[in-house]
Amino acid sequence: MNERNGKQKRAIRAQARTGKLSHAWLILGGSPGGREELAGFLAAALLCGGAEPPCGACSHCVKLAKGIHPDLIRVEKLPDRASYVVDQARELARDAYIMPNEAARKVYYIPAADEMNVQAQNAMLKLLEEPPARSVFILAAENAAALLDTVRSRCTELYAEGDEELGDADKYALALFDSFRRGAPADVALAAWQLEKAKLEREELDGVLEALSVLIAQRLREGVAPGEQKRLFAALDETKKQLQRRRSNNTGAGHMAGALAVGLNRLLEQS
Ligand SMILES: [Zn+2]
Repeated sequence: MNERNGKQKRAIRAQARTGKLSHAWLILGGSPGGREELAGFLAAALLCGGAEPPCGACSHCVKLAKGIHPDLIRVEKLPDRASYVVDQARELARDAYIMPNEAARKVYYIPAADEMNVQAQNAMLKLLEEPPARSVFILAAENAAALLDTVRSRCTELYAEGDEELGDADKYALALFDSFRRGAPADVALAAWQLEKAKLEREELDGVLEALSVLIAQRLREGVAPGEQKRLFAALDETKKQLQRRRSNNTGAGHMAGALAVGLNRLLEQS
């Protein structure tokens, strides 16, 4: 099974080990999901308090996985605007000088940096040129041409992978996640049935559950409405419970997929 963004993640880990991670990053290419995943990994490498960042186990990594780390600040467009506006960049600039809450630094993530207008990018540029000591910026963009050269030149660029890079486990996890998110029990059952028929090895089944946890955690990090948040937390618990059960009982595809579909659909009924 290929891990999406595996090469990029190894490069980030290697740099994290030296303790010299860049203060400004630009993630380009791939798909929205690929960029999002890489940004999440990078943020974890920056905020992790463990020996091998991201360790996945320290309090920072756990909070990041749940989408509740106070030092990861996701900056979205205002709901009624077509682009990020200069006031948002100015507010970000003020905030970036305030000390972090829990981690050694704060991470600002701008998922659609190509939707910053020119004034906003210029305000951002000052920050990238003289960054506050404890702040790191992760920009992601679909269209690199919409970014000022001066902004690009200040950032370490990373190229994310797309959905075609997904291994089998990720594909099944994505089908399950999408149907759960849409609140479609019949599609959840169908995705589980296809998983059951796929004759995956047991290790790959664990990979599906792990990938599903990652997708749910990513969605939580995007800042969702309270109702959806509650449902996603429950789905995350359910997925982890199934992973533990599969490992301890060495369950095969049929049992695992069936139990997962029943568990997820119960959550959909409740909400
Ligand atoms: Zn950690």
